[in-house]
Amino acid sequence: MYSGRCKCEDISFEIKGKPTWKVNCNCNWCQKTSGSAFRSFVLFNEKEIKYLGKKPTSYEDKKTDHGRSMINLFCSNCGTLIGIKVPSIDEQHFSIGVLDQRKDINITDNIWGEEALQFINYSKDAEVYKKGYWNGTGEKMKIKK
Ligand SMILES: [Zn+2]
Ligand SMILES: [Zn+2]
Repeated sequence: MYSGRCKCEDISFEIKGKPTWKVNCNCNWCQKTSGSAFRSFVLFNEKEIKYLGKKPTSYEDKKTDHGRSMINLFCSNCGTLIGIKVPSIDEQHFSIGVLDQRKDINITDNIWGEEALQFINYSKDAEVYKKGYWNGTGEKMKIKK
């Protein structure tokens, strides 16, 4: 069982299942929408997610560089980034920081390495892919570790 909440706790949730994937995304969109260097996501099947209070506010961006709509999910009160939703994928990406169990979660997969900022360092067990998972070829990057 996983659980989480935004900073003001207007939004809280419980998740029954295990993560379907865990990934750090270094793409331009994630940099822009987070205001940070990259976003770390833990994905769960939507059927296993239960929001207890308010649902996140959503903003759909139909003009992304990578050719697919992306929906940013956030708390309209405190601004915490709850995660994202990619239309046509029935999983929700949760921002790792909103999960209560975040300190127990390791992420080794990294995508959009070709858009990563110059100061990013990867862990020894990291896999770094040049592009994303729907329009990438699965090509890995050689990186300094
Ligand atoms: Zn909030
Ligand atoms: Zn991204």
